Amino acid sequence: MNKASHVVKTIEKLSSKAGLRGKIDAKCCECIYDPYQKGSWRYQVEKCTSPTCPLFSSRAMSSKSKKREAKK
Ligand code: SF4
Repeated sequence: MNKASHVVKTIEKLSSKAGLRGKIDAKCCECIYDPYQKGSWRYQVEKCTSPTCPLFSSRAMSSKSKKREAKK
């Protein structure tokens, strides 16, 4: 599977989930995910450095990271 088809499959899988969570995750995946870079789509989204993005505060994050970010 090449990079593009891997990313497309991941986006399709996420966006097919019910509710907005999957759609937000799919958009973030489409925006930032590079399977040749370190970590999963979720890891890369969590490391996003675009606080002005309207989805930034809703992006996928582990509960541990959410707690850490809330303390800032
Ligand atoms: S929060 Fe980050 S990864 Fe998600 S859409 Fe915005 S810029 Fe892209």
